[in-house]
Amino acid sequence: MEYCKRCVYPANARPGIVLDDDGVCSGCRLAESRPSIDWSAREPLLRELLETYKARQRAKCNPYDCIIPVSGGKDSTYQVWLLRTRYDMNPLLVSYNHTFNTAIGIRNLTNLVQRMDCNLVRFTSAPGSALRIARHMLGKVGDVTWHYHAGIMTFPIRAAIQYDVPLVVWGEHGFSELVGMHNYDDFVEFTKKKRQEHDMRGFEPEDLLEEPGCPLTRYDLAPFFYPSDEEIERVGVRGIYLSNYMEWDGRKHAEFVVRELGFETAQSRERTFNLYDKLDDIHANGLHDYLKYLKFGYGRCTDEVSFEIRRGRMTREEGIDLVAHYDHVRPSDMDIFLRESGMTDTEFDDMIAHLRDPSLWVRDNPGGWRATDSVVNHRHDPGVEAARLPRPEPRRDYLRTASRAGPRYETDGVQTEYVIL
Ligand SMILES: [Zn+2]
Repeated sequence: MEYCKRCVYPANARPGIVLDDDGVCSGCRLAESRPSIDWSAREPLLRELLETYKARQRAKCNPYDCIIPVSGGKDSTYQVWLLRTRYDMNPLLVSYNHTFNTAIGIRNLTNLVQRMDCNLVRFTSAPGSALRIARHMLGKVGDVTWHYHAGIMTFPIRAAIQYDVPLVVWGEHGFSELVGMHNYDDFVEFTKKKRQEHDMRGFEPEDLLEEPGCPLTRYDLAPFFYPSDEEIERVGVRGIYLSNYMEWDGRKHAEFVVRELGFETAQSRERTFNLYDKLDDIHANGLHDYLKYLKFGYGRCTDEVSFEIRRGRMTREEGIDLVAHYDHVRPSDMDIFLRESGMTDTEFDDMIAHLRDPSLWVRDNPGGWRATDSVVNHRHDPGVEAARLPRPEPRRDYLRTASRAGPRYETDGVQTEYVIL
């Protein structure tokens, strides 16, 4: 396997990373372009856009200027603070409850609603539906969290139609930034196609229902049906990404919301050094991410290390040490999933065997899979020194818990309630 000479991404990283002639990946090249962007010239564009939609909504006597999809994570907390305080917007917060909640995630969402004093609508899937979908999509595409992504990418658009609020404000363009899929000058906006291709792995709920023998019902999949073109056009729904208008640094947002807004971080993680990201569901940093490792040989620690290297906050060597420590770790929430879905380890392994990248994984003996390569073997590849970035910032501690919103929920697992006021 070839690995980026600057960060730690493998050449098979999803979605669609490209290594150039110097062995540097498209995500690193995109990050390199950041300093040349005049962010201060983009801020007025955002202000004008927000003011336009605000004026239209208020002229209609609609109480909501925009919709902000929220999970209660550090980015959505920052987004709400930004739009509420700096741009004087009245947002409707919209959240999809995947039901595999963590206690800390519920506390953070509660804290966000209280601190920012916002209206929130939340769609809660039936826990049985969530589990059926997770199990079905595990076998199909190796993803137990398909419904998380389908829910948070679809329900806000449905809310936009229902409440007649055209503007949906997203934070960053997700993984496309990590692998450099779009240029910042593209000002890429939310589309049904992007949602389907990347977040829903190519499947609309209609596609799943048409499959012979599909165990899922229309009831299970109800929250994931996208509105019709006519509805989208009638309301004029438009989804923008703040990361096109301002320098988006999740780490800095985390530091801000911990310091100013009572955002709570994890005490420790099984599969990454990052204590502030993906806190709201039990599988995001666990089984969901481990599946990426089982399929492609890398996990979230690789994502986060690459992000830090590009920001000059970590060396490639420090990053490789972290990847070696975390990416292969079997997460404990896997046992929760196996128990809830009535599967054994062997059944799980057999179910995803066809999804393992054959360029990385070999089966040496029945039931024994072995990764044939790792970035650990590429510490001293030719070209690494030439690709190295200067390191302007010292490595910092990765955020300890700063506050607790309250001892309301202490148990991880299925939670359909989310707030006690
Ligand atoms: Zn790279």
